[in-house]
Amino acid sequence: MDTPIAVVGAGPAGLMLAAELRLGGAQVTVLERRDRPATESRASTLHARTMEILASRGLRELFGELPCEPRGHFGGIPMDLTLPSDFPGQWKVPQTRTEALLADRARSLGAEVRRGWTVRGVTAAGDHVRVTADTARGPRELRAAYVVACDGQDSTVRTLLGADFPGRPARREMLRADVGGIDVPNRRFERRERGMVVAARNPAGVTRVMVHEFGRPVRAGREPDFGDVVDAWKRVTGEDLSGGDPLWVNAFDDTDRQLARYRHGRVLFAGDAAHVQMPIGGQALNLGLQDAVNLGWKLAAVAGGRVPADLLDTYHDERHAAGRQVLANIRAQAELLLGTAAVEPVRAVVAALLAAEPNRVRLAGVVSGLGLRYPAGPDDHPAVGTRLPGVDLHDGRGLLVAAPSTARDAIAAGWRGRVRTASGPVPATGTTAALIRPDGHLAWAGTDPTAARPALTRWFGPIDRREKELS
Ligand SMILES: Cc1cc2nc3c(=O)[nH]c(=O)nc-3n(C[C@H](O)[C@H](O)[C@H](O)COP(=O)(O)OP(=O)(O)OC[C@H]3O[C@@H](n4cnc5c(N)ncnc54)[C@H](O)[C@@H]3O)c2cc1C
Repeated sequence: MDTPIAVVGAGPAGLMLAAELRLGGAQVTVLERRDRPATESRASTLHARTMEILASRGLRELFGELPCEPRGHFGGIPMDLTLPSDFPGQWKVPQTRTEALLADRARSLGAEVRRGWTVRGVTAAGDHVRVTADTARGPRELRAAYVVACDGQDSTVRTLLGADFPGRPARREMLRADVGGIDVPNRRFERRERGMVVAARNPAGVTRVMVHEFGRPVRAGREPDFGDVVDAWKRVTGEDLSGGDPLWVNAFDDTDRQLARYRHGRVLFAGDAAHVQMPIGGQALNLGLQDAVNLGWKLAAVAGGRVPADLLDTYHDERHAAGRQVLANIRAQAELLLGTAAVEPVRAVVAALLAAEPNRVRLAGVVSGLGLRYPAGPDDHPAVGTRLPGVDLHDGRGLLVAAPSTARDAIAAGWRGRVRTASGPVPATGTTAALIRPDGHLAWAGTDPTAARPALTRWFGPIDRREKELS
């Protein structure tokens, strides 16, 4: 085996995953086709749950001061995203910066990032996966025990495996450009007779414009140019952008697909490789980072032989369900935002419903990621599966919270290196003891820490023999 784990793609999902794997004690090699990091401006929003995760890993300070915007929207209908959290709202950070920080972190934790490797083949072969790639020095091959495809929306690995990727092709698109030297009013999701427009001027005087023309089919086979943006903007607003200086032009569409299985034996998928969605409300990047944080500690434990491989099925179960919910939500938003005038009555009803607090809380919970609950058993404490925020999980280990006792010490010894202990109580659950997974979700809550053993075994593997001697 050349590496226990190969990650294909050094985008945000791949880099976050590499760092999480290292934290879990696994060696990882990241293969990235680009010689250097991407410079395009893409996602710019980190939502509250992602911020909580970064804080739990001690990474919040790395990002420095970030503008925060509590106002969000649901399909262009204004919606306050504020929910109980240390990080309510939307935090604005260019994706290039997020990627740079994650790359530094992955490297500083010991991940190997090989740039200039374009993966061309992935073949499962019994106890390993063979990866072939084109490099500047010719073809290369690498054998890994596990491969994680984080290679983005056009995932090569997904195609190579012929993975079932159901959903809907693009029906609508938005053109987008960053333009200097223009003077148009700022607009937030302004629906006009012929289309929908957005304009936001930044302090440097660059205006990001986005335009969708109602009922216009997706252009095929050609990247948009500034002329396309100028023409569409003119048709929708009557304004002329042609004197502007285009810094970046692109288009995105409402393709909506999700892999049927996030795990294919020894090959797993995370981020846009696993789900493609319209980037409305900045959820795609956040979903990918959260996929990585769910998978990292599990795969590190499996690759290290500490836990049976079927723990990886919980990655599919948890993240596929989370993705399905977000994608359904994005589909609804796309209809509300880009539908023709026929959608106006539905918009009015949704706006009225959003004025009721329980509805706002529910939808803000999906957009922010704060409302997510992973599946739990019928006998579990009602909070099991929810996030337990404000907990220090910087070392990527689980955390058993309980008052000091011999039972707690015995457990600490039995799952040494995998689970830390801290003193209770646990206000969020109303209990005196709790077990928190490395991704911050609650695995067990109760009063007697010895009752946490089944959950400890499920998530962290069998007890260490030394604990048996102690107890
Ligand atoms: C043009 C564009 C505009 C976007 N705008 C927004 C936005 O405004 N708001 C928003 O929320 N989201 C936006 N997104 C989505 C957001 O950028 C993605 O959700 C996010 O980047 C996903 O992260 P990822 O790590 O899963 O994939 P990516 O960031 O796509 O990273 C995949 C990586 O894999 C590498 N790779 C691909 N194939 C191979 C191969 N065969 N071998 C080796 N390496 C490979 C790629 O070079 C890339 O570095 C945009 C995406 C694009 C492409």
